Amino acid sequence: MAIKRIAFLTSGGDAPGMNAAIRAVVRSGLTLGMEMFGVYDGYKGLVEGKIEQFTSKNVSHILDRGGTILGSARLPEFTEKVVRDLAVKQLKKYFIDALIVIGGDGTFKGGQKLAEMGIKVIGIPATIDNDVTSTDSTIGFSTALNTVVDAIDKLRDTSESHHRCSILETMGRDCGDLAIYAGVCGGAEYVITKETGFDKKAMLESLRKKKLKGRRHAIILTTENAVNVHKLAKEIEDYSGYETRATVLGYVQRGGKPTPEDRVLASRFGNYAIELLQQDISGVIVGISHNDMIHMTFDESIKCPFVKSQLFDLIEKIR
Ligand code: ATP
Repeated sequence: MAIKRIAFLTSGGDAPGMNAAIRAVVRSGLTLGMEMFGVYDGYKGLVEGKIEQFTSKNVSHILDRGGTILGSARLPEFTEKVVRDLAVKQLKKYFIDALIVIGGDGTFKGGQKLAEMGIKVIGIPATIDNDVTSTDSTIGFSTALNTVVDAIDKLRDTSESHHRCSILETMGRDCGDLAIYAGVCGGAEYVITKETGFDKKAMLESLRKKKLKGRRHAIILTTENAVNVHKLAKEIEDYSGYETRATVLGYVQRGGKPTPEDRVLASRFGNYAIELLQQDISGVIVGISHNDMIHMTFDESIKCPFVKSQLFDLIEKIR
């Protein structure tokens, strides 16, 4: 039976470009004669039946907007089958043939469980820290990276004027890409992430030598939870002589207009998800690899090993 009625939701942390994905899903589906249904507030809204039929007009002028017009929510209880049963009931009530979930790893775990309950599900990776290992890039990463690089550029100005060392903490609990890519773009001396670790003693010593040689400033990038930035600032100050300040960027990284890269990626992902459903392919997550659209099963995607960013080595070479 052809897939005709498609629901879609955004879940987990919001990411710039989610709206562009929603727009592409809706417009591509309508072009193929499908009926499109937006679900508000992620799995929570699905369980509560916050579902509305979308026309082309519902998604006009949203390409350039950050956040998600559908809203997002976290529903930890979605791990419980009784709660997911309610979601399945709502999908049946609206005669939905397939569900597109836009979010990160957690969202896909929920999607996979719905797929195991007989729902046709497709995942679209959207999360600012790029922590979905089965795709080269996720929606929102490019925009968040722009925000971090902008912050480094500004910090450098003041750090250079005051002969300071600046530590900048980015998001990226499980994936250091934001800090690593921003480190390359902003000429950071060091990048500290949980997965790559760092030799604190060597770093302190090297900063001390730089200070002695008259280097005016230093920039260090780190991800959340990798290190206590305020404690590290004190240690650097005591050991190297650099006056040191730590800045935690926080939620500003989530906001803002999506970059052209994110808009293109989101539009491609959204359209590709619909093309797959048209071919009755589901139970997969879409992705991009070498600029081609790809898809793999939830299981394959979740098990995809983390590959350490090659850019990490680059930082050491061009320090
Ligand atoms: P981000 O990486 O931006 O935080 P995410 O999709 O990983 O995005 P999570 O909060 O981990 O965000 O997950 C979003 C939602 O997915 C959760 O609130 C929950 O409803 C559902 N979810 C997460 N993990 C599971 C799981 N193991 N089983 C069922 N549902 C889950």
